[in-house]
Amino acid sequence: MYQVIDGKRISQEIKDELKAKVAAMKAQGEERCLAVIQVGSDPASGVYVNNKKKACAYIGIESIAYELPEETTEEALIGIIGELNERKDVNGILVQLPLPEHIHEERVLLAIAPEKDVDGFHPVNVGNLSIGRPGYVSCTPAGVIQLLKRSGIRIEGKECVVLGRSNIVGKPMAMLLLRENGTVTVCHSRTKNLKEITKRADILVVAIGKPKFVDESYVKEGAVVIDVGIHRNENNKLCGDVDFERVAPHTSAITPVPGGVGPMTIAMLMSNCVQ
Ligand code: NAP
Repeated sequence: MYQVIDGKRISQEIKDELKAKVAAMKAQGEERCLAVIQVGSDPASGVYVNNKKKACAYIGIESIAYELPEETTEEALIGIIGELNERKDVNGILVQLPLPEHIHEERVLLAIAPEKDVDGFHPVNVGNLSIGRPGYVSCTPAGVIQLLKRSGIRIEGKECVVLGRSNIVGKPMAMLLLRENGTVTVCHSRTKNLKEITKRADILVVAIGKPKFVDESYVKEGAVVIDVGIHRNENNKLCGDVDFERVAPHTSAITPVPGGVGPMTIAMLMSNCVQ
Protein backbone atom coordinates (compact mmCIF):
# COMPACT_ATOMS: atom_id res chain seq x y z
CA MET A 1 0.00 0.00 0.00
CA TYR A 2 1.36 3.43 -0.89
CA GLN A 3 1.54 6.53 1.31
CA VAL A 4 -0.29 9.63 0.11
CA ILE A 5 1.95 12.53 1.15
CA ASP A 6 -0.32 15.07 2.80
CA GLY A 7 0.91 18.53 1.78
CA LYS A 8 -2.02 20.22 3.47
CA ARG A 9 -1.16 18.76 6.87
CA ILE A 10 2.59 19.32 6.51
CA SER A 11 2.14 22.93 5.34
CA GLN A 12 -0.16 23.59 8.32
CA GLU A 13 2.47 22.10 10.64
CA ILE A 14 5.11 24.47 9.18
CA LYS A 15 2.79 27.49 9.43
CA ASP A 16 2.06 26.69 13.08
CA GLU A 17 5.79 26.41 13.85
CA LEU A 18 6.35 29.77 12.13
CA LYS A 19 3.47 31.36 14.04
CA ALA A 20 5.09 30.35 17.35
CA LYS A 21 8.47 31.64 16.14
CA VAL A 22 7.01 35.01 15.07
CA ALA A 23 5.21 35.36 18.42
CA ALA A 24 8.54 34.74 20.22
CA MET A 25 10.27 37.29 17.95
CA LYS A 26 7.53 39.85 18.67
CA ALA A 27 8.06 39.35 22.38
CA GLN A 28 11.69 40.40 21.74
CA GLY A 29 10.46 43.48 19.83
CA GLU A 30 11.25 42.06 16.38
CA GLU A 31 8.65 42.32 13.59
CA ARG A 32 8.41 40.80 10.11
CA CYS A 33 6.85 42.56 7.14
CA LEU A 34 6.33 41.37 3.55
CA ALA A 35 5.56 43.70 0.63
CA VAL A 36 3.55 42.04 -2.15
CA ILE A 37 3.32 43.84 -5.49
CA GLN A 38 0.77 42.94 -8.13
CA VAL A 39 0.61 44.70 -11.50
CA GLY A 40 -2.66 44.38 -13.44
CA SER A 41 -5.70 42.36 -12.47
CA ASP A 42 -5.03 38.80 -13.62
CA PRO A 43 -7.64 36.80 -11.62
CA ALA A 44 -5.27 33.86 -10.88
CA SER A 45 -2.61 36.28 -9.58
CA GLY A 46 -5.29 37.95 -7.46
CA VAL A 47 -6.08 34.61 -5.80
CA TYR A 48 -2.37 33.89 -5.15
CA VAL A 49 -1.80 37.38 -3.68
CA ASN A 50 -4.84 36.99 -1.44
CA ASN A 51 -3.64 33.60 -0.20
CA LYS A 52 -0.25 35.11 0.61
CA LYS A 53 -1.89 37.95 2.57
CA LYS A 54 -4.02 35.43 4.48
CA ALA A 55 -0.98 33.29 5.32
CA CYS A 56 0.88 36.38 6.58
CA ALA A 57 -2.07 37.33 8.79
CA TYR A 58 -2.25 33.78 10.22
CA ILE A 59 1.44 33.67 11.09
CA GLY A 60 1.63 37.24 12.40
CA ILE A 61 3.67 38.75 9.56
CA GLU A 62 2.56 42.22 8.54
CA SER A 63 1.86 42.52 4.82
CA ILE A 64 1.75 45.59 2.59
CA ALA A 65 -0.07 45.11 -0.70
CA TYR A 66 0.58 47.19 -3.81
CA GLU A 67 -2.15 46.70 -6.41
CA LEU A 68 -0.82 48.63 -9.37
CA PRO A 69 -2.72 49.28 -12.61
CA GLU A 70 -1.92 47.28 -15.77
CA GLU A 71 -0.38 50.36 -17.43
CA THR A 72 2.25 50.85 -14.68
CA THR A 73 5.64 51.43 -16.33
CA GLU A 74 8.70 49.32 -15.65
CA GLU A 75 10.49 52.42 -14.33
CA ALA A 76 7.68 53.14 -11.85
CA LEU A 77 7.68 49.53 -10.65
CA ILE A 78 11.46 49.48 -10.24
CA GLY A 79 11.16 52.80 -8.40
CA ILE A 80 8.77 51.27 -5.85
CA ILE A 81 11.07 48.27 -5.41
CA GLY A 82 13.98 50.68 -4.83
CA GLU A 83 12.04 52.43 -2.05
CA LEU A 84 11.11 49.09 -0.46
CA ASN A 85 14.75 47.96 -0.64
CA GLU A 86 15.65 50.99 1.51
CA ARG A 87 12.88 50.58 4.09
CA LYS A 88 14.17 49.07 7.33
CA ASP A 89 10.66 47.93 8.34
CA VAL A 90 10.21 45.77 5.19
CA ASN A 91 11.98 42.39 5.31
CA GLY A 92 10.65 40.73 2.17
CA ILE A 93 9.61 41.92 -1.30
CA LEU A 94 7.60 39.79 -3.67
CA VAL A 95 6.51 40.70 -7.19
CA GLN A 96 3.64 38.50 -8.34
CA LEU A 97 4.30 36.92 -11.76
CA PRO A 98 3.42 37.04 -14.59
CA LEU A 99 3.92 40.75 -15.23
CA PRO A 100 2.21 42.57 -18.12
CA GLU A 101 4.06 42.13 -21.42
CA HIS A 102 5.51 45.66 -21.55
CA ILE A 103 7.48 45.01 -18.33
CA HIS A 104 10.76 43.10 -18.52
CA GLU A 105 10.47 40.43 -15.84
CA GLU A 106 14.18 39.79 -15.40
CA ARG A 107 15.05 43.49 -14.92
CA VAL A 108 12.34 43.76 -12.25
CA LEU A 109 13.48 40.66 -10.35
CA LEU A 110 17.09 41.89 -10.49
CA ALA A 111 15.99 45.16 -8.86
CA ILE A 112 14.95 43.38 -5.64
CA ALA A 113 17.72 43.43 -3.03
CA PRO A 114 18.94 39.79 -2.67
CA GLU A 115 18.50 39.96 1.13
CA LYS A 116 14.79 40.77 0.63
CA ASP A 117 14.22 38.34 -2.27
CA VAL A 118 11.94 35.91 -0.43
CA ASP A 119 11.03 34.16 -3.71
CA GLY A 120 14.68 33.15 -4.15
CA PHE A 121 14.74 34.18 -7.84
CA HIS A 122 17.61 36.71 -7.71
CA PRO A 123 20.84 35.42 -9.34
CA VAL A 124 22.71 36.02 -6.07
CA ASN A 125 20.38 33.62 -4.25
CA VAL A 126 20.43 31.13 -7.13
CA GLY A 127 24.25 31.27 -7.06
CA ASN A 128 24.36 30.83 -3.28
CA LEU A 129 22.23 27.71 -3.61
CA SER A 130 24.52 26.23 -6.24
CA ILE A 131 27.70 26.75 -4.18
CA GLY A 132 26.11 25.69 -0.89
CA ARG A 133 25.99 29.11 0.79
CA PRO A 134 23.01 30.24 2.87
CA GLY A 135 20.38 32.28 1.04
CA TYR A 136 16.75 32.24 -0.03
CA VAL A 137 15.66 29.16 -1.97
CA SER A 138 12.83 29.05 -4.51
CA CYS A 139 9.72 28.14 -2.50
CA THR A 140 8.24 25.24 -4.49
CA PRO A 141 11.39 23.05 -4.59
CA ALA A 142 12.15 23.96 -0.96
CA GLY A 143 8.63 22.72 -0.17
CA VAL A 144 9.31 19.41 -1.92
CA ILE A 145 12.34 18.81 0.32
CA GLN A 146 10.19 19.47 3.41
CA LEU A 147 7.50 17.08 2.13
CA LEU A 148 10.09 14.33 1.74
CA LYS A 149 11.83 14.94 5.07
CA ARG A 150 8.64 15.30 7.09
CA SER A 151 7.26 12.10 5.52
CA GLY A 152 10.31 10.16 6.71
CA ILE A 153 11.73 9.69 3.20
CA ARG A 154 15.54 9.69 3.11
CA ILE A 155 17.19 11.43 0.16
CA GLU A 156 20.83 10.59 0.86
CA GLY A 157 22.28 8.08 -1.59
CA LYS A 158 19.00 7.83 -3.51
CA GLU A 159 18.74 7.93 -7.28
CA CYS A 160 16.74 11.17 -7.82
CA VAL A 161 15.36 12.17 -11.22
CA VAL A 162 13.91 15.64 -11.84
CA LEU A 163 11.68 15.90 -14.88
CA GLY A 164 11.87 19.58 -15.99
CA ARG A 165 14.66 22.19 -15.84
CA SER A 166 12.90 25.52 -15.33
CA ASN A 167 14.65 28.21 -13.31
CA ILE A 168 11.95 28.28 -10.64
CA VAL A 169 11.36 24.54 -10.17
CA GLY A 170 13.54 22.00 -12.01
CA LYS A 171 17.01 23.53 -11.59
CA PRO A 172 16.73 24.57 -7.92
CA MET A 173 15.05 21.21 -7.22
CA ALA A 174 18.07 19.39 -8.62
CA MET A 175 20.44 21.57 -6.55
CA LEU A 176 18.49 20.92 -3.36
CA LEU A 177 18.41 17.15 -3.89
CA LEU A 178 22.15 17.27 -4.52
CA ARG A 179 22.61 19.27 -1.30
CA GLU A 180 20.75 16.46 0.50
CA ASN A 181 23.26 13.98 -1.00
CA GLY A 182 20.95 12.46 -3.59
CA THR A 183 22.38 11.27 -6.93
CA VAL A 184 20.61 13.59 -9.31
CA THR A 185 19.67 13.42 -13.01
CA VAL A 186 17.76 16.25 -14.70
CA CYS A 187 15.59 15.50 -17.77
CA HIS A 188 14.07 17.94 -20.26
CA SER A 189 12.46 18.10 -23.68
CA ARG A 190 15.67 17.04 -25.49
CA THR A 191 16.33 14.05 -23.22
CA LYS A 192 16.58 10.77 -25.12
CA ASN A 193 15.11 7.54 -23.73
CA LEU A 194 13.21 9.46 -21.06
CA LYS A 195 11.43 6.44 -19.59
CA GLU A 196 14.68 4.52 -19.16
CA ILE A 197 15.97 7.36 -16.99
CA THR A 198 12.80 8.03 -14.99
CA LYS A 199 12.48 4.28 -14.29
CA ARG A 200 15.85 4.42 -12.48
CA ALA A 201 14.48 6.91 -9.97
CA ASP A 202 13.98 6.08 -6.30
CA ILE A 203 12.61 9.62 -6.04
CA LEU A 204 10.98 11.10 -9.17
CA VAL A 205 10.05 14.80 -9.12
CA VAL A 206 7.84 15.80 -12.04
CA ALA A 207 7.61 19.47 -13.16
CA ILE A 208 7.02 19.50 -16.90
CA GLY A 209 3.76 21.43 -17.11
CA LYS A 210 1.82 18.76 -19.07
CA PRO A 211 -1.37 17.34 -17.52
CA LYS A 212 -1.14 13.63 -16.58
CA PHE A 213 1.99 13.20 -18.71
CA VAL A 214 3.58 10.61 -16.43
CA ASP A 215 1.86 7.22 -16.29
CA GLU A 216 3.01 3.95 -14.73
CA SER A 217 5.37 3.22 -17.63
CA TYR A 218 7.69 6.01 -16.37
CA VAL A 219 7.91 4.76 -12.80
CA LYS A 220 9.95 2.09 -11.03
CA GLU A 221 7.95 -0.18 -8.73
CA GLY A 222 8.10 1.26 -5.18
CA ALA A 223 9.45 4.71 -6.18
CA VAL A 224 8.49 7.96 -4.45
CA VAL A 225 6.72 10.30 -6.90
CA ILE A 226 6.37 14.05 -6.32
CA ASP A 227 4.02 15.88 -8.68
CA VAL A 228 4.71 19.62 -8.95
CA GLY A 229 2.34 20.17 -11.89
CA ILE A 230 -0.95 21.96 -11.52
CA HIS A 231 -3.65 22.18 -14.21
CA ARG A 232 -7.39 22.49 -14.56
CA ASN A 233 -8.99 19.78 -16.67
CA GLU A 234 -12.01 20.15 -18.95
CA ASN A 235 -14.35 19.74 -15.93
CA ASN A 236 -12.52 22.54 -14.08
CA LYS A 237 -10.99 19.98 -11.69
CA LEU A 238 -7.35 20.26 -10.64
CA CYS A 239 -4.85 17.66 -11.81
CA GLY A 240 -1.07 17.33 -11.94
CA ASP A 241 1.66 16.29 -14.37
CA VAL A 242 1.25 12.73 -13.08
CA ASP A 243 -1.70 10.43 -13.75
CA PHE A 244 -2.32 9.76 -10.05
CA GLU A 245 -4.81 6.88 -10.46
CA ARG A 246 -2.49 4.91 -12.73
CA VAL A 247 0.80 5.72 -11.02
CA ALA A 248 -0.07 5.60 -7.30
CA PRO A 249 -0.44 1.78 -6.97
CA HIS A 250 3.14 1.38 -8.28
CA THR A 251 4.70 3.80 -5.77
CA SER A 252 5.67 3.63 -2.11
CA ALA A 253 4.63 7.28 -1.66
CA ILE A 254 3.09 9.95 -3.90
CA THR A 255 1.78 13.52 -3.66
CA PRO A 256 -1.81 14.19 -4.78
CA VAL A 257 -3.00 17.24 -6.76
CA PRO A 258 -4.50 19.20 -5.12
CA GLY A 259 -3.18 18.86 -1.56
CA GLY A 260 0.43 17.88 -2.29
CA VAL A 261 3.13 20.30 -3.38
CA GLY A 262 0.72 23.26 -3.92
CA PRO A 263 0.12 24.21 -0.25
CA MET A 264 3.86 23.91 0.48
CA THR A 265 4.82 26.83 -1.75
CA ILE A 266 3.12 29.42 0.46
CA ALA A 267 4.36 27.74 3.64
CA MET A 268 7.95 28.01 2.36
CA LEU A 269 7.41 31.62 1.31
CA MET A 270 6.35 32.35 4.87
CA SER A 271 9.38 30.46 6.14
CA ASN A 272 11.63 32.64 3.94
CA CYS A 273 9.95 35.78 5.33
CA VAL A 274 10.55 34.68 8.92
CA GLN A 275 14.14 33.72 8.11
P1 NAP B 1 8.12 25.18 -17.44
O1 NAP B 1 8.90 26.44 -17.21
O2 NAP B 1 7.15 25.11 -18.56
O3 NAP B 1 9.19 24.00 -17.61
C1 NAP B 1 8.81 22.73 -18.05
C2 NAP B 1 10.04 21.85 -18.19
O4 NAP B 1 9.61 20.58 -18.64
C3 NAP B 1 11.06 22.37 -19.19
O5 NAP B 1 12.36 22.23 -18.66
C4 NAP B 1 10.86 21.45 -20.41
O6 NAP B 1 12.04 21.18 -21.13
C5 NAP B 1 10.37 20.17 -19.77
N1 NAP B 1 9.53 19.41 -20.69
C6 NAP B 1 8.43 19.85 -21.36
N2 NAP B 1 7.93 18.87 -22.12
C7 NAP B 1 8.72 17.79 -21.93
C8 NAP B 1 8.73 16.45 -22.45
N3 NAP B 1 7.80 16.05 -23.33
N4 NAP B 1 9.68 15.61 -22.03
C9 NAP B 1 10.62 16.01 -21.15
N5 NAP B 1 10.67 17.25 -20.62
C10 NAP B 1 9.74 18.13 -21.01
O7 NAP B 1 7.32 24.76 -16.15
P2 NAP B 1 7.55 25.09 -14.56
O8 NAP B 1 7.36 26.53 -14.31
O9 NAP B 1 8.77 24.40 -14.08
O10 NAP B 1 6.27 24.35 -13.97
C11 NAP B 1 6.04 22.97 -14.13
C12 NAP B 1 4.68 22.62 -13.58
O11 NAP B 1 4.65 22.91 -12.21
C13 NAP B 1 3.53 23.42 -14.19
O12 NAP B 1 2.40 22.58 -14.25
C14 NAP B 1 3.29 24.53 -13.19
O13 NAP B 1 1.96 25.00 -13.21
C15 NAP B 1 3.59 23.81 -11.91
N6 NAP B 1 4.03 24.66 -10.80
C16 NAP B 1 3.43 24.45 -9.61
C17 NAP B 1 3.83 25.19 -8.51
C18 NAP B 1 3.18 24.91 -7.19
O14 NAP B 1 3.20 25.74 -6.30
N7 NAP B 1 2.62 23.72 -7.00
C19 NAP B 1 4.81 26.15 -8.63
C20 NAP B 1 5.43 26.34 -9.86
C21 NAP B 1 5.03 25.58 -10.95
P3 NAP B 1 12.89 22.31 -21.94
O15 NAP B 1 13.63 23.08 -20.88
O16 NAP B 1 13.79 21.52 -22.80
O17 NAP B 1 11.88 23.13 -22.67
